[in-house]
Amino acid sequence: MTRSRVRTTVKARIKTEVLTARKQRRLEQITGRDTRTIHHFLKVIYHNEDHLISGKSGKKKVNKVKLDQLTLTTTKNTTHASRPKVRHDLKRRFPRSSHDELQECRDNATAIYHSQQALNSSPTKKTLPKKIPRTQSANKKRFVLTCTPSNSIARWWVGIRDSLDTKKNNTRNHEKLWLPLACSPYHEYKIHQGKIQALEVLYSPKKKEWWVHFILLHVPDKYSSSRPPAVLGIDLGINKRAVSALLTPKGTINQHEIRFWSDKTRKKLLKETEQKTSKLQKVLAKPSLSFGKRKQVVYQLKLLRKRQRTEHKLTDHTYVNKLVKYILSLGKRYDLHVVVGFPHNIRKSQYRGNQKPSTRKSVHKWNYRRVIELLKFKLSLNGWEEHRILAINESWTSSTCSRCGSYLTTRHNQPTFTCQTCGYNLNADLNGAKNIAKRLIKYVLQPKYTSIKDQLTGKYFPLSSFRVFPVLSQWLQTKQSHLLTPGAGVST
Ligand SMILES: [Zn+2]
Repeated sequence: MTRSRVRTTVKARIKTEVLTARKQRRLEQITGRDTRTIHHFLKVIYHNEDHLISGKSGKKKVNKVKLDQLTLTTTKNTTHASRPKVRHDLKRRFPRSSHDELQECRDNATAIYHSQQALNSSPTKKTLPKKIPRTQSANKKRFVLTCTPSNSIARWWVGIRDSLDTKKNNTRNHEKLWLPLACSPYHEYKIHQGKIQALEVLYSPKKKEWWVHFILLHVPDKYSSSRPPAVLGIDLGINKRAVSALLTPKGTINQHEIRFWSDKTRKKLLKETEQKTSKLQKVLAKPSLSFGKRKQVVYQLKLLRKRQRTEHKLTDHTYVNKLVKYILSLGKRYDLHVVVGFPHNIRKSQYRGNQKPSTRKSVHKWNYRRVIELLKFKLSLNGWEEHRILAINESWTSSTCSRCGSYLTTRHNQPTFTCQTCGYNLNADLNGAKNIAKRLIKYVLQPKYTSIKDQLTGKYFPLSSFRVFPVLSQWLQTKQSHLLTPGAGVST
């Protein structure tokens, strides 16, 4: 059985800030010229509808050969010597465009006409966008995409055969316009996954940025709704590095997939360096210390701090690697979304006189942002889409009951959590992880807004990208529903 291929668009921003003024002007000139050409083609089509259009209403089609006969001269080609002059000579009007480019503009114009016919909209010039990008097909080798890992400006460059040709000594000079792209690992994964069919260069007036849209054809991964949907909620902590709980959109927790992520080697390393620092600081406090010795101790302290920083980084990497491995293994069994609680403004609540100095110190040292960034980055290297790993606001998740939603709760000693309303008893961090996962499900199934914000990156993701959740109700009725709650599921 052959699976059908899918067309996807990958959008990459052009780093215009590093382009020279001349190149920026060229970019504007090319797109402006293309827009004028497409508009011109459309005008010719509207003007000669009786002659060019065939087919019934609703399925009208432009005859491209007849359109060419009206617009493009073929003086070079001797077989068409009988048609040296045409009525609307676009070649004379746009002398710096090549034949291939004009044909691409023609294809764009016919496509616009067809879509207008399908929408039954009256073809007026007002409905057209100000700038229409030309689709440049990969078949004619109009552009090149190259990867330059050693380049300091950009890793990925797209070279467009710039056809505002310069004429020197009666020979056409094809210049290539090289554009640096801002590509993330996700882009790279997507570009490698499929085959580039075409490319569009366009300007977004809202963002005031230039973008390249790659149109890719690829055979999709074996996605199937037979995989049960699930949400992995992760509550990041300081002493216990994280707690994860797997939740189905129905609200049942999978007892086999509760994980407490602690890091003993990190604790040991940190303790060691802390002891060494305090020792050195005691030496430094001695008033009888000589100048030379003091200089030496200060240098040693500096080195220690540097070592501590690298230790922090390294342990973060190993710990996130473990998490990623676990998430990827879960991703094979479930249609998985990962939510991480983002401790927004936690540092603001930790000021002098409010909390114990030790907790204040540890909260300010806590590098949750780097952990989430690393998690996102490493998952994107494995082809995870951005909306599948989200950082959402975690306020109130630690003090809300994950079973009944009551705020009347107590934490007698730090690790246990008790609900006064329903008497639910469980680990406090686990309760937080459950609430975080539940929050995403609530965002999707009982939406207040049309998109979900990622707290780390500030990006918004439309609800339509979380398609699996609404499908669930149908899915539950099928036979596979037993997969949702393997073992003893605690209903909440
Ligand atoms: Zn409760």
